[in-house]
Amino acid sequence: MPVIPFNDLAVQYQGIAGEVQAALERVFQQARFILGEEVAALEADFASYVGVSNAVGVASGTEALQLALMACGIGPGDEVITVPNAGVPTVAAIVAAGARPILVDIHPVSYNLDPSLVEAAIAPRTRAILPVHLYGQAADMDPILEIAHRRGLRVIEDACQAHGAEYQGKKVGSLGDAGCFSFYPTKNLGGYGDGGMVVTNDARIAEKVRLLRNYGQKDRYYHVVEGINSRLDELQAAMLRVKLKRLDHWNEERRSLARSYDRLLGDSPVIVPSDMGYGTHVYHLYVIRSGDRDRLQAALKKEGVETLIHYPIPVHLQEAYRHLGFGEGSFPVSEKYAHEILSLPLYPGLRPEQVEEIAGLIRRL
Ligand SMILES: *Cc1c(COP(=O)(O)O)cnc(C)c1O
Repeated sequence: MPVIPFNDLAVQYQGIAGEVQAALERVFQQARFILGEEVAALEADFASYVGVSNAVGVASGTEALQLALMACGIGPGDEVITVPNAGVPTVAAIVAAGARPILVDIHPVSYNLDPSLVEAAIAPRTRAILPVHLYGQAADMDPILEIAHRRGLRVIEDACQAHGAEYQGKKVGSLGDAGCFSFYPTKNLGGYGDGGMVVTNDARIAEKVRLLRNYGQKDRYYHVVEGINSRLDELQAAMLRVKLKRLDHWNEERRSLARSYDRLLGDSPVIVPSDMGYGTHVYHLYVIRSGDRDRLQAALKKEGVETLIHYPIPVHLQEAYRHLGFGEGSFPVSEKYAHEILSLPLYPGLRPEQVEEIAGLIRRL
């Protein structure tokens, strides 16, 4: 066990253990485990939290993206524009929907989709833009939405790292045709297992996702479309309801810890993350950049500070995705940053003096 771990879900659980246990007990007593009251209640609560009219619980963030694409009618022969630096699930979801991912480089300051590069990537088969709100900060949505409207494209937001983040006063997930969330345990709102959610103001998209997540079943044993099994279960939903009530509080704690890092590292040789000013960053991850990243990471590890890299290999350079056809040098910003980025510990329950300790070590190293 490192002296300061990268994350600590046990410390978070200690604060809510009683309520989580009560929620579990309630589900066991109700003895309904799939698509019951808990999922319906979480969907209603989450829709209202994000500020949309519909939310549909699914089995993971990846499948939220896949089903949102499918519900927009996107499939084989279609192209979807996204980024190379957000990890593999986003691209995996596009492929699972049957479409082809077209990658576009990131903005050097926001680390999110660079709107100025989108037009050049649009081709006759392009059907959607899929921006990722990476590390907890919104992508610059206004220019993306403007391009999409002008070119007749759908916008599906990958908000899997940005529960509660805002863009121009609106919650992410509510800006495009659909927004997709993951409840993977370490996310800002995480369950105790897998889970996900599609949110949308479009009732037809919501209805389609409801069908698709449950083998296309409209009434019992009557199947109107070809779907899959991607249901959120009642136990996860019951526990997520306990945690949703605390999401804003936890995000505020993350923001406060991030401000401490900013202050303590501001005049050091590492580059701290930029708060873009067009919204509220919820710091799913606190990612710095250093020209000497590997040595810094090794030195921190020796001092007992655990760090991670999100992500060390851009998707197009992963062995599994060479077939997308984007070689080395295709996306200079993403490729350069993959060698420089380092995620520092930041989670609800991390103590301010631990942030001071980590920042002090970085300054000394
Ligand atoms: C976590 C994550 C996903 C996938 O979520 P799962 O629930 O693990 O399937 C997709 N996109 C991004 C950016 C993520 O961080």
